[in-house]
Amino acid sequence: MSDKYDLLVIGGGSGGLAHAQRATEYGANVAVVEYGPLGGTCVNVGCVPKKVMWYASHLAHDIHHATSYGYDITIGGHSWGRLKARRDAYVSRLNGIYENNLDKRGVTHIVGSARFIDAHTVAVDDREYRAEKIVIATGGQPVTPNIPGAELGITSDGFFALEEQPKRVLIAGSGYIAVELAGVFNGLGCSTQVVVRKDSVLRDFDTMLSTELMATMRKDGITLETAVTPASIRKTDEGLVLSAEDGREFGPVDAVLWAIGRSPNTAALDLDKAGVESDGRGFITTDKLQQTNIENIFALGDVTGRAALTPVAIAAGRRLADRLFGKMDGRHLDYDLIPTVIFSHPTIGTVGMTEDEARSAYGDDVRVYSSGFTPMFYALGEEKGRSVMKLVTAGADERVVGLHVFGAGADEMLQGFAVALRMGATKKDFDDTVAIHPTNAEEVVTMR
Ligand code: FAD
Ligand code: NDP
Repeated sequence: MSDKYDLLVIGGGSGGLAHAQRATEYGANVAVVEYGPLGGTCVNVGCVPKKVMWYASHLAHDIHHATSYGYDITIGGHSWGRLKARRDAYVSRLNGIYENNLDKRGVTHIVGSARFIDAHTVAVDDREYRAEKIVIATGGQPVTPNIPGAELGITSDGFFALEEQPKRVLIAGSGYIAVELAGVFNGLGCSTQVVVRKDSVLRDFDTMLSTELMATMRKDGITLETAVTPASIRKTDEGLVLSAEDGREFGPVDAVLWAIGRSPNTAALDLDKAGVESDGRGFITTDKLQQTNIENIFALGDVTGRAALTPVAIAAGRRLADRLFGKMDGRHLDYDLIPTVIFSHPTIGTVGMTEDEARSAYGDDVRVYSSGFTPMFYALGEEKGRSVMKLVTAGADERVVGLHVFGAGADEMLQGFAVALRMGATKKDFDDTVAIHPTNAEEVVTMR
């Protein structure tokens, strides 16, 4: 038996759903194959439940500082179980909204795991579906290291499944997830340890950001150890113990969490049946138009290994639909100047080149402006938080090529400035913009 569509999308996550829905707006007959809950990583085990946990942890921070504003308040307790139940209910509501959205637009939802039969045919269980165009948007999954006892640890997926709050946690990793979940655990009162294998967290970002974040994590009570290459985990009566290659031991703890990157979901797709090429790590290679080496097959989102962020998957998906079904020839996503926020405590917002990248690209033609200050929120108390910012400019007209912000409000601050960078704003444009007072953001336009 065979069904025929204009477009078949494999993966009902951020990118796949955005693409499918935009394509139906142009009149395409579309099916989406998804074996899990609709919404993919972001909605189910990513951005959304993570941000809920970030809010929970951030509330603890604000309540802690409330006494300096005259409140007679202490945290009497916190129910992880209640938080998780409410968070899960919210995610279920979102799953339902996504299902309704597909229904409303007449997109067929095929439940199951897709695999290629040939370049125009996909099988789900024992049924085959044919399509003019096929889009692969299968995302990725967390990786664990190939060491003895690795299975005793959990990943971010396991984090969202935790029914009870672990009292002592060890996180191995140094990217987004390691620092975000360390902030959540620590804010909610867990004894939190982070082990990184090189010399710092967030090595891909401007050094100022990683230096400030490490200092703040330590000040906030997180134990942060560098140069730790995990060698094994073992279970003891006291808890889990991680051994490093150099013989150091960490723990015992109640939970070890791996946050060491993600790998693409391509193994089950039988890509070779359609002749689709992937790189050595399994990421599907595409050109700037999201086209694979096969004419009618496209890929987008995390499975392509480029800027693994939800709005990137969505933007790539919508633009691809505009091009394939909306007659917008050449429309594609420009992967430059993608703003991103790390939901650490405090948050980090960053867009454009790091100082080092700018110096490699423009040499001596780079000028950097920075600022460090205590946000006014902390003025009344003894414990002080910190903000730092950096503007990286290049050329005689000092075009702003990078903006990096560490501190309260960075998450909400960056979106508008990202527009300015895309428009080619110069330092003079920033200087000519009147500040908004009193805010942390005003520092961005008053740096000298
Ligand atoms: P996904 O959303 O992963 O969707 C892929 C879908 O394909 C999945 O639902 C999967 O079940 C399905 N699938 C896979 N194989 C098959 C198959 N063979 N057949 C049928 N279906 C299949 N990004 C941000 O921008 N901001 C954040 O704050 C943020 N926080 C994150 C926090 C965590 C803990 C994690 C893990 C990620 C976070 N991300 C965040 C990244 C973001 O979740 C991803 O970039 C985004 O979900 C990618 O979308 P996608 O459509 O490419 O893939
Ligand atoms: P990341 O790629 O951000 O970071 C993982 C880091 O772990 C690597 O950079 C590496 O750093 C370290 N690492 C790799 N292998 C090992 C190993 N074997 N042992 C110890 N450390 C290792 O991955 P994450 O898992 O944190 O997140 C995946 C992606 O999801 C992110 O890149 C991001 O695109 C997205 N995401 C986005 C968020 C947001 O927008 N706020 C939040 C969460 C995820 P080093 O080389 O320095 O050791």
